Amino acid sequence: AVPGARVGLDALPLRPDLRGRSPYGAPQLDVPVRLNTNENPFPPPAELVADVTAAVGRAAAELHRYPDRDAVALRADLAAYLSRATSTPLDARNVWAANGSNEILQQLMQAFGGPGRTALGFEPSYSMHPIIAAGTRTEWVAAPRRADFSLDTAAAAETVRSRRPDVVFVTSPNNPTGQSVPLADLRTVLDAATGIVVVDEAYAEFSSAPSAVSLIDEYPDRLVVSRTMSKAFAFAGGRLGYLAAAPAVVDALLLVRLPYHLSVLTQAAASAALRHADATLKSVRTLVEERHRVADGLGALGFDVVDSDANFLLFGRFPDAGAAWRAYLDYGVLVRDVGIPGHLRVTVGTAEENDAFLAASRGLAEGAA
Ligand code: PMP
Repeated sequence: AVPGARVGLDALPLRPDLRGRSPYGAPQLDVPVRLNTNENPFPPPAELVADVTAAVGRAAAELHRYPDRDAVALRADLAAYLSRATSTPLDARNVWAANGSNEILQQLMQAFGGPGRTALGFEPSYSMHPIIAAGTRTEWVAAPRRADFSLDTAAAAETVRSRRPDVVFVTSPNNPTGQSVPLADLRTVLDAATGIVVVDEAYAEFSSAPSAVSLIDEYPDRLVVSRTMSKAFAFAGGRLGYLAAAPAVVDALLLVRLPYHLSVLTQAAASAALRHADATLKSVRTLVEERHRVADGLGALGFDVVDSDANFLLFGRFPDAGAAWRAYLDYGVLVRDVGIPGHLRVTVGTAEENDAFLAASRGLAEGAA
């Protein structure tokens, strides 16, 4: 027997507001074709693996010392990459890094949300935003999107003006629906906001829309752009997220971050991976082409496909999305049931994975006919 297993969660003095909640839970199943967590399907190039290994080896010789608490060298590398990618000159002081952008978002909520404060998002969107709000005891306000999942900017600005949330999340491209938010629409939301506006750009590298990073100098007291190396950078296992904002925002996060949160191994590996950005990001073009091919293939089979600017597609309609999810699994294909009735989300994979997904989709379409 497992020691202590006779006691369940109900017996613990858990915070009342956490009772009955479910943890974030994308199933991690060992199936041949995994298209459910929006990772880059291409493993990192061999030169990157060699460089990361060497850098981690050098860092290992210093493991008896704490890491650079402020990750200054890595932040300079991230600032250089982001300056190039967005044609916006950024300094290391504009950038902050953490263990995945989830930790970035959590630190933002610890600093700008909290008890008595509210955070607002436009749903359906990334399910961790309300979960992080709950964990930091920030009241969550869910505002709707249009029926086609696009952001109704005028309605969004009106809601922001009337609810005056302390934090607003705008996900661009939006997960799980895929659309980007144009800069003009972001300005409309920023002009309406009195609190912090977090533009979550986890999938920005796949998008043809310009980054909100270019607006930081215009909105220094409210705009935060969140980014990650988990998607386009093929570094999901390395856990490195970052943000760009005015230096004062970084000063705010220093008040809530845990000291030495980014290990020397993470810092060394991420900087080494960034030296190979051009090689890694070559896969982005392939994935965007594959996204078009998969969308066209689904359309030809009679599915509705939501236009996507990211590395995934939301599609339907199924009479029962849960049953369709299991039917894909029977074909050895893991997709995501994101809780939108009639819809599933599929990550764009390698050409072979996408072929397997489209073959399964044909099977589902014929089964329905
Ligand atoms: N934001 C969005 C919109 C995401 O989809 C994800 C990953 N699913 C994240 C943030 C967090 O990713 P990570 O913590 O790996 O950076």
